[in-house]
Amino acid sequence: MRKPLKAQRCDVCGEQSLRRVTVCHEETVTHDGRQQVVRIPDLPAIRCTNPQCRPEHPDDTIILDDNALERISLETYRQLGLLTPPEIRAHRERLRLTQQELADLLRLGGNSLSRWESGAVYQSRSLDTLLRIVFNLPDTVPFLRKRELEAVNV
Ligand SMILES: [Zn+2]
Repeated sequence: MRKPLKAQRCDVCGEQSLRRVTVCHEETVTHDGRQQVVRIPDLPAIRCTNPQCRPEHPDDTIILDDNALERISLETYRQLGLLTPPEIRAHRERLRLTQQELADLLRLGGNSLSRWESGAVYQSRSLDTLLRIVFNLPDTVPFLRKRELEAVNV
């Protein structure tokens, strides 16, 4: 089991001075060729409270743990107006489509879909819209299947 936070030592100064804090986190994300600021006013994080620790770069004493990184990731999708990776996967599975089947129906190149579902890359806004159409309008998959068959028979 991990030691309680108060008993853990800061990697930099070696003091038992780590405490939970709430920080305002801002980062600039480039998506679809545009820059957008993602702002989380109340991100739980860990900070070294020793004033001697990195006095010239106090922001570097903020430590983002796995929970904080997960929150930043989900919040980034939300603020970009995109489906999150778990949402894409859940919707696809609800339609009982494999990644390959959905990629074929939408004529997606390469492994775009698996990269969206793993969070490796953001889907563009237009392809996010296309996914929402497929996921929300029940007639879309039968329509795409029919179209796929017609294309094969030509
Ligand atoms: Zn420190």
